[in-house]
Amino acid sequence: MLVFDMVRKAKEIDIDVNNALNCRIRYLTDRLWDIGEEKENYCELITDNDWSIALFLNRIAAANKEKVEIRKEIHAIKSITANIEGITAADIEQAKMYPIGRLIDFSKGKALCLWHVDKNPSLHWYRQNNKVKCFACGKSGDSIDVHMQQTGVDFITAVRQLFWELYT
Ligand SMILES: [Zn+2]
Repeated sequence: MLVFDMVRKAKEIDIDVNNALNCRIRYLTDRLWDIGEEKENYCELITDNDWSIALFLNRIAAANKEKVEIRKEIHAIKSITANIEGITAADIEQAKMYPIGRLIDFSKGKALCLWHVDKNPSLHWYRQNNKVKCFACGKSGDSIDVHMQQTGVDFITAVRQLFWELYT
């Protein structure tokens, strides 16, 4: 139990860092949007003077430069968060092993589909590879997809929750 507590603690720290970085990404994304609006307003700078056109072009160039810098930072943050999420490929594989039968009630291997309005159970569970497939809408998925669809959580959260459910 102690080891699992440590793993949980380590992952909580990652979540804090990740939240901070996600806030930063939200801020940067908002800024990108603002720059777009500002650029439209720069058109008002143009009068019949040559210098006004030079000013306009200057502002547009500065705005474009800022956009490039912001996109670089967003890209950099995203590549860091992939490492600090605390999720490994092994965790994902473990989460995929979570029996779908514990998430959905199947009767004779069939259940109502989670992805479309299903009147007759069309969702089949394949125990051998722990996957589901709907024969009405064609959707297929694993335990992570099922958990995401049931709870609305994102992929990383779904992996964490299924992993913890299995191992703690
Ligand atoms: Zn379906």
